[in-house]
Amino acid sequence: MSNYDFDLFVIGAGSGGVRAARMAAALNVRVAVAENRHLGGTCVNVGCVPKKLFVYASRFSEEFDAAKGFGWSLQKPQFDWTRLLAQKNREIGRLQGVYQGLLNQSGVKVIEGQARLLDAHTVAVADRVYTCERILIATGGWPSVPEIPGKKWVVTSNEMFALEKLPKRLLIVGGGYIAVEFAGIMHGLGVQTTLCYRGAQLLRGFDEDIREFVSQEMRSKGIDIRLNTSIDSIKKIGDELMAHTGQNQSIAADLVLYATGRKPNTAGLGLEALGVYLDAAGAVRVNEQYQTNIPSIYAIGDVTNRINLTPVATAEAMALINRLYAGLNALVDYDNIPTAVFSQPNVGTVGLSEAEARKRYPAIDIYKSVFTPMKHTLSGQGEKTLMKMVVEAGSGKVLGVHMVGADAGEIIQGIAVAVRAGATKAVFDSTIGIHPTTAEEFVTMRKPV
Ligand code: FAD
Ligand code: NDP
Repeated sequence: MSNYDFDLFVIGAGSGGVRAARMAAALNVRVAVAENRHLGGTCVNVGCVPKKLFVYASRFSEEFDAAKGFGWSLQKPQFDWTRLLAQKNREIGRLQGVYQGLLNQSGVKVIEGQARLLDAHTVAVADRVYTCERILIATGGWPSVPEIPGKKWVVTSNEMFALEKLPKRLLIVGGGYIAVEFAGIMHGLGVQTTLCYRGAQLLRGFDEDIREFVSQEMRSKGIDIRLNTSIDSIKKIGDELMAHTGQNQSIAADLVLYATGRKPNTAGLGLEALGVYLDAAGAVRVNEQYQTNIPSIYAIGDVTNRINLTPVATAEAMALINRLYAGLNALVDYDNIPTAVFSQPNVGTVGLSEAEARKRYPAIDIYKSVFTPMKHTLSGQGEKTLMKMVVEAGSGKVLGVHMVGADAGEIIQGIAVAVRAGATKAVFDSTIGIHPTTAEEFVTMRKPV
């Protein structure tokens, strides 16, 4: 046994940190994890989980409406935000308890408080100092709001999970995952929602058809999407917030949500003083084995600001702990990571967009289908679905699969296995469909466009 207090000191009990701590403890490593907010980190407390619960809540307004087309008559349903928040808080409290239990059972020492590094083997939390053979930084990210006049009036995704009451009018600034997801949530809950994005189309980085299509569908549901629109300032006039745009418009709202990206959570950790390399955005720089330039210090997850998704943080945790303590050297494969935007309708995607594929391959075929899913033939809502496959022309290898439509996240998760296995279009074609489903369209698209 080493003379250190711990073999591994993890800073941050979020998706990556908890997985690393538990796995290491199961391998008889003496582990501590420090956490300054809530166990479970962003995903459990102010991210994936409460967001998805809100998405479910917001879907009901359309479902009630669709029910009429299927013969139902309903009194006007009432929505109670306070009850939803209480329900959400109950579930998050339960999950925090589960995390606490799992860490305790696996023998991880949980230390509450803000941790900072004193040297390559020493961490301070409040007035206690701990020595350790290795340090793992898993401190995640934090919402970033640009410096504009009136910044103090705006909220970020963190506050959206604890609003005292729902606004009547919401202005969302940003065009990424969080902006698009909250636009759907708030619109579905009856909030008049305007989304301003500085660029020409939402969801930069996604396939162009997907971006265009989801934006159209969101608009047709009633979300006011203003592209090429930047915000210069926010003023508070009485109870009202007034945003002034660079295009000389004024937008009145009761609440303004800035969803303009997240910054790695490295401030106050003492990394600069130790000489740990950070990039220009403040992210910890690591090699492919998550090691920083100081050999005893490692980092995983959002604090490294690469692919900021929960399953990536947990995969990195497992790869690191397996390498350090189980003698297994498998690296995380960052190709073909599937992802979903829980917009309404959902976006699901895996692999290359059409534009990326055209850059990398001499010839590609595109298969595309836009149709009204069966449910909407009677719902009266007119929602359409887009499915798209990007295929290498010579080999027939499927390079990317993209979808906008109900349950796209669920469908693309399955398709991702096939894409990672290197399936060709012929394999998709020879797969028998499940009828009647939306997903069967992926095995029946025959002609390239
Ligand atoms: P985190 O989960 O952020 O954990 C870091 C922890 O470190 C935090 O608990 C923090 O309090 C703690 N900490 C920070 N500094 C210190 C310190 N000095 N001392 C002690 N503790 C410290 N991803 C998905 O895959 N699917 C989704 O649907 C999804 N939805 C999201 C929705 C929102 C609104 C947001 C904001 C994010 C969402 N994400 C989603 C992203 C996902 O939450 C993150 O990728 C994931 O949580 C990253 O895990 P992590 O371990 O790197 O960091
Ligand atoms: P994103 O990076 O997805 O989007 C940020 C948006 O803000 C972009 O549209 C960006 O525009 C815009 N923006 C950035 N800076 C400014 C600025 N100064 N002024 C105006 N607009 C600006 O970040 P999010 O905050 O939406 O989410 C953070 C990350 O969390 C995501 O990238 C994702 O990794 C993760 N996440 C995952 C989810 C999921 O898996 N479903 C859900 C929510 C979050 P531009 O494109 O022009 O740069």
